[in-house]
Amino acid sequence: MIPQFKSLTEMTARFPDEQSCIDHLTEVRWRDGKFCPHCGGFEKIYTFKDNRTHKCGDCRLKFSIKVGTIFEDSKVPLQKWFVAIYLITAHKKGISSVQLGKDVGVTQKTAWFMNHRLREATKTEAFKQPLKNTVEVDETYVGGKARNMHKDKRERLGGRGTVGKEIAVAMVERGGDVRTFHVQNTQRPTLQNLVKANVALGTAVNTDEHAGYQGLGAFYVHGSVNHVGGTYAIGNVHTNTVEGFFSIFKRGIFGIYHQVSKKHLQRYLDEFSLRYNHRAEDNGAAFLSLLMNCNGRLTYKGLIADDTV
Ligand SMILES: [Zn+2]
Repeated sequence: MIPQFKSLTEMTARFPDEQSCIDHLTEVRWRDGKFCPHCGGFEKIYTFKDNRTHKCGDCRLKFSIKVGTIFEDSKVPLQKWFVAIYLITAHKKGISSVQLGKDVGVTQKTAWFMNHRLREATKTEAFKQPLKNTVEVDETYVGGKARNMHKDKRERLGGRGTVGKEIAVAMVERGGDVRTFHVQNTQRPTLQNLVKANVALGTAVNTDEHAGYQGLGAFYVHGSVNHVGGTYAIGNVHTNTVEGFFSIFKRGIFGIYHQVSKKHLQRYLDEFSLRYNHRAEDNGAAFLSLLMNCNGRLTYKGLIADDTV
């Protein structure tokens, strides 16, 4: 099912018109069998001759394959959405809505909305198997003025200078996936509950010396490096991988998006996680993953309302 393409031209050749996009979305969405997005019925689903209108024999309602997905209610053709999906998954540091608008051929406002809807679709893939082998955990501050953004352990450990900044936690399995979380604080229960929910017990877990990680040794093979003391690696114990992830994230945030509001931070983290987790594959894999998670809707009203996370 994974579409094979390594460039934008190959992708547009694979999906040359609207119907080919609809066919692919139908194949992905009904990969486990047909179902009605209105009532969940699956026994009597009919397809009209136009190959894009379906009807449910249970509730008698007609629907398109876009109903119940992030594409519902969008006037933008699927073909443009597919190009947007390609661009958002192919650019390591993301793509701004200004650039996306130009590349796809929609207004910047529409592109902004598309970008957020696509980010919404990146989040659901996060929870799969627990991370294992060697996992690095770290946290960073995001927000405020760019020049103050560099990770500053003194600030962090002293708890000062973090007003107006948001906290992101990342866990990376070496050679495997990343998981990212927007958290309210770096206290022990917050950090350790996240680790326990995402990392298999007994795994080697590497962190820095932050107090929030102390005590992990009861559940994990906990190794920590003393960054404040200038130690960045002891043998195999280091957090270079997770710091590398945060480095890409921050370059993307400052270079491409310039700033990220509190309520959208998790979506941006999810977007960067999706790309990271598919980094070793052809573009088609990240593309397919995003399409597989296209359920759910995010309305414009929902996006711009409620600025309290
Ligand atoms: Zn139905």
